[in-house]
Amino acid sequence: MSAKRDYYEVLGVTKSSNPDEIKSQYRKLALKFHPDRNKSPDAQEHFKEISEAYAVLSDSSKRDLYDQHGHEGVDGRYSTEDIFRGAGGNFNDIFNDLFSGQGRRGGGGFGSVFENLFGGGGGFGRSRGNDLLHECYITLEDVLHGKQIELDLQKYVDCPDCNGTGCKPGTSKATCKDCNGRGQVRVRKNMGGFLLETAQACGTCRGRGEIINDPCKKCQRGKIKGTKHLSFNLPSGIDNGDYVIQGEGESIPDGDNGDLIVRVRVEPHSHFRRDGIDLYCDARLSMIDASLGTEINVKTLEKTETLKIESGTQPNSILKIKSQGLPSQNSNRRGDLFVHIVVEIPKKLTKQQKSLLDDFRKSD
Ligand SMILES: [Zn+2]
Ligand SMILES: [Zn+2]
Repeated sequence: MSAKRDYYEVLGVTKSSNPDEIKSQYRKLALKFHPDRNKSPDAQEHFKEISEAYAVLSDSSKRDLYDQHGHEGVDGRYSTEDIFRGAGGNFNDIFNDLFSGQGRRGGGGFGSVFENLFGGGGGFGRSRGNDLLHECYITLEDVLHGKQIELDLQKYVDCPDCNGTGCKPGTSKATCKDCNGRGQVRVRKNMGGFLLETAQACGTCRGRGEIINDPCKKCQRGKIKGTKHLSFNLPSGIDNGDYVIQGEGESIPDGDNGDLIVRVRVEPHSHFRRDGIDLYCDARLSMIDASLGTEINVKTLEKTETLKIESGTQPNSILKIKSQGLPSQNSNRRGDLFVHIVVEIPKKLTKQQKSLLDDFRKSD
């Protein structure tokens, strides 16, 4: 397919359309372009296109992602299968509805329609474990140096006794005879006047294509609650955000692993404020030092630097200490440290100070 069209445009709705409007619009289009009803050569492609748009826009988190980052945001994060799998419930609703009263028993709506569209087989029906979330709170010093994270995740892991096969050690899975290992069987159905052949999950092996005759006693189909140790590096320069480690989420029998989402939160610093790769801090000066000039010591993230204050430095001046900010993730560049000068006016003066300032006033 050529460049992807805007999902809203594909469905003929707008960014402000609510979920009900989107659903009813998709329902209308699905009825028109469903390949069982529309035999024109483009119908299937078009049906796929509107269905993908609906799969994304009917899922509030994917819709947000799309609104913010467009196709790139969604495609970067989800495969086409993920997109449809996540929205399965939303489709079932519509298809059960569309095809009710046509002698079809409830289900079969979403699964079979989309198995046909996407070639079925093991791929599409495969389930996937949940994503897991881990929050990392790090300091600005960690941002400067990068941080090694060691993590013990409590989750389902492969059973050590059977190596995750779910079979009693020494035995193995047998191919399902009813579907010859395909996991699905083809069923013909009369759909209001025409015959539709659909693929359905094989009932004997429940779509797995294989049967465990002799189960492992220790686990549930190869998975067991356990601990997975993970070690990964948050690179220097990292910012707040969600980072995905693929395949390290929850693990389920006969399915794909979910992902681990590492949510990075950089804690506020007592001395520095961050703006991208630059840092800001305050330095307090007496009005005398600001007037006469001096040298002050400024703490950076790593060390202490001497900063020359010119005579006549004005309140709220910003002075730069080069390359004492944060590293950039995309280049070798390092940000700068900007020092905001706060000039302090004394609140109490001794008699002598008063008279000196008085002399100064008269001299002006
Ligand atoms: Zn086992
Ligand atoms: Zn089977």
